[in-house]
Amino acid sequence: MHSAQVSDPPFPGELLTREIFGNISSDSKLAFYVLTAVSLAVFCVGVRSRWRLWRLGREDSGGVSVAASLRQFAARVLTQRAVQGRGGASRAHTLLFWGFCVLATGSGLVAVEHYAHDLTGRGSTDPIFHKGTYYAVFEVTLELAGIALLLGAGWFFARRVRGDSSIGHRTGDLVILGALFFLGLSGYLTEGLRILREDTQQPELSFVGLLFAKGLKLCGVGREQSDLLHLVTWWGHAVGALGFIAAMPYTRLLHVVAGGLSVATQEKRLGYLTPISVEEVEETGRFGVGRIQDFTRRQLLELDACVSCGRCQDACPAHAAGKPLSPRDIVQETRGALEVHGPLILGARSSGGDEDEATNAAPPLHGDVIRAESLWACTTCNACSDVCPLGVSPVNLITDMRRHQIGMGELRGAPAKSLEKTQRQGNPWGLPKEDRMDWARGLDVPLVADNPDFEVLYWVGCAAAYDARVQKVARAVVRLLQHAGVNFAVMGKEERCLGECSRRMGEEFVFQELAEHNVTALSAHGVKRIVTHCPHCLNSLRQDYPDVGGSYEVVHHTAFLEELQTAGKLPVDGELSGGLTFHDPCYLGRVHDETEAPRALLESVLSGGGELKEPARSERETSCCGAGGGRMWFDDEPETRVGRDRVEELVETGAETVVTGCPFCLRMVTDGVAEREDRPEVRDIAEILVDVVLGVGEDHPREET
Ligand code: SF4
Ligand code: SF4
Repeated sequence: MHSAQVSDPPFPGELLTREIFGNISSDSKLAFYVLTAVSLAVFCVGVRSRWRLWRLGREDSGGVSVAASLRQFAARVLTQRAVQGRGGASRAHTLLFWGFCVLATGSGLVAVEHYAHDLTGRGSTDPIFHKGTYYAVFEVTLELAGIALLLGAGWFFARRVRGDSSIGHRTGDLVILGALFFLGLSGYLTEGLRILREDTQQPELSFVGLLFAKGLKLCGVGREQSDLLHLVTWWGHAVGALGFIAAMPYTRLLHVVAGGLSVATQEKRLGYLTPISVEEVEETGRFGVGRIQDFTRRQLLELDACVSCGRCQDACPAHAAGKPLSPRDIVQETRGALEVHGPLILGARSSGGDEDEATNAAPPLHGDVIRAESLWACTTCNACSDVCPLGVSPVNLITDMRRHQIGMGELRGAPAKSLEKTQRQGNPWGLPKEDRMDWARGLDVPLVADNPDFEVLYWVGCAAAYDARVQKVARAVVRLLQHAGVNFAVMGKEERCLGECSRRMGEEFVFQELAEHNVTALSAHGVKRIVTHCPHCLNSLRQDYPDVGGSYEVVHHTAFLEELQTAGKLPVDGELSGGLTFHDPCYLGRVHDETEAPRALLESVLSGGGELKEPARSERETSCCGAGGGRMWFDDEPETRVGRDRVEELVETGAETVVTGCPFCLRMVTDGVAEREDRPEVRDIAEILVDVVLGVGEDHPREET
C-alpha cells in the first residue's frame, strides 16, 4: 500500500515531500476505508475463532509474564534468531519478515500522516512530518524493503516449485507467495506511474519506482494514460493488501499470529515434562491425552504455529531410520484433528450437549489420526523441539499421548515388561536389589550410612548396577574419585531406578512411586550435591525431581572430573596417541547444553599427539543413539535400529576409539559397531581417563571392555 503522488501544483519552494492519496477521489477513499474495516473485521473474526479453539485445551500450569514475553519476542522474533540455522531458508525468511514489517510500518506511517493531516485541517501543501530528511530516508527504506520482500518470497516460491521433501506442500502456499509477489510488484508499478504522472522531486529516492517509470515510458505510457493506470494499480495494490490481511488467520499466514505468540511465550525447557497428579486423574478420568481437548491451551496454540517447515522431521533420528514417525506429521495430523473435533466440541459446549458424543462423531485421535507405532518410535531425543523455529514441542505432544496409551494398557511385549520390572524390583532389568552393589566388589566404596559426612553423592544408576559393561564405567569413576581424594558415598541398596525411562514412556505413576522413595532416601542422608555418569539420571534429578520435592545440585561426571582436573587432582600420567571421537549424548549435549567439559578432558589426554575427530553432527546437533524414551527395551532388528546412521558417522571419523558419557549410548554404539568389520573401541570418558591418570599396570590392570 505504499503509493501516492506529488500534487499539482507542486509543493512550494524546495519542500521535499509528496502528496498522499493523490489521484484518489473522495469516493475511492471512502470505499478504501470501508474495505479496510471489512478486512480487519474478517481478520479479527478469524483470530477469534482460532482463539476459541486454543481455549478448548486444559489450562496451562504457571502464568505468562507479559514483560518476559515481550522481551522474548524482541530477542527471538524481531532479530529472527528463532529461524536461523537453515542457510538459504533462514536468510530468505529474514528478508521476507523485515521487508514485510517495514512496508507495513511504512503504510501505517503514511496513514498516520494522512489522517492527522485531515484532522488538523492543514492545507494540502503543508505536510506534518512526511517531508525533508525523514521523507528521503522513508522513501529509500521502503524501496529496499520492497526488494527484500521480493527476494524472500522468490526464494520460498522456488523452493515450493522444487518440492523439497521435508516441507509440507499445500497449493495455498503458492497462492500466498504469489500474493506477496503481487503486492511487491504492484507497489513499485503504482509508484512508477505516480512518478510518470507528476514531476516528483528527487524521484531517484524511489529508485525502483523510477526504473518502472522509465520502463513504462519506453512502452509508450505517457502522462495521459498514467492517471487511469495509476488508479487501477493503486486499487489492485490496496485490494491485494487488504485481502492479504483478511486471509491471515485462514491460511499458513496464521503462523504470523500463532507463531509469534508461541515463540514469545515459550519456556524453553528441553527435557521437562509436566507432572500429572492422582487427584487430577481421579477427578477428570483423564490420563495423558486421549482427545484433542486433553492437550493444554499452549499445545493447541503450537499446532497452529507450525508451518510444516520440516526442520523437526529432518532432525528426527527415528524418521531417518525409516520408523513410522515424522514429528512434523504428528503436529500437522493433530492439527487436522483440532480442525475436525474443535467445532464439534464448541458446538456441544454452547448447546449444553455431550462433549464426548460430539467428539465421537469424528475419527478418534488415537489410532485413526495418530498411530501407536509412531508414538512408540520416538526416542525423546528432543531434537525436534530444539530445532523448531516456532516454539513447537512435538516430543511433548508425543509423550502426553503415550501417557494415554499406557493408561489404556496398550503397551505390550518387552517394553511393557521393563515397566513391570521397574515397578516390582526398582530397576528395568528386574534383578534383585541385593545385587545393586555387585559392581563395586574389591573397590572399598563407601555407603552413605558408613560415611555420613560425605561431600558428594555418586549416583550409580541401574545400568551401572546391573549391566556388566556399564559396571566398568562405575568402577572407573570410583577409582578416579578415590585417586582425587573426593569425600564421596553411594546409596547402595537404598538406591532405586529414578524412573526417568518410565516417565518418558508415559508411565507417570511408576515414576512418582520411585521418585518418592528416592527423595525420602536422599533427604534422610542430607544429600545436597550429586554426581552421575548418566545424562538421563542427570536430567531426571535436575528437571523431574524438583516437582516431587527433591532439589539438588546435580553434576555430570564429565563436568565433575574436569573440575577435579582443573584443581590439579587428576594429573595425566600417560597419554593417548590414537584418534578419539566424542559422541555427545542427547540429554547432555542437547538437553543440558554441556559440551565443553568432555572435550576439555579428552584434549588433556591427547596432548601426546592424538587427535579429537569431530563427527559430522556434534554438540547440540548430535544425533541419537536410539535408546532414549524407553526405546532401549524395544527389540529392533539391527538394520532398523534408530542409531544406525549415528554409528556410521562415528566410524567415518576414522577414530580408533569412540568415547561417550552415557551408559545407554555406550550400550547402543557398542552393539552398533559390533555389526561392522571396521570396529572402533567404544568407551566411556571415565574409562579413558582412568588409564591415563592412574596408568595401566600391575596395580591398575586395564578393564577389558
Ligand atoms: S513443528 Fe516446528 S520444525 Fe516441525 S514442521 Fe512445524 S514449525 Fe517446522
Ligand atoms: S524426540 Fe527425537 S525421536 Fe522423538 S520425534 Fe523428536 S526428533 Fe524424533
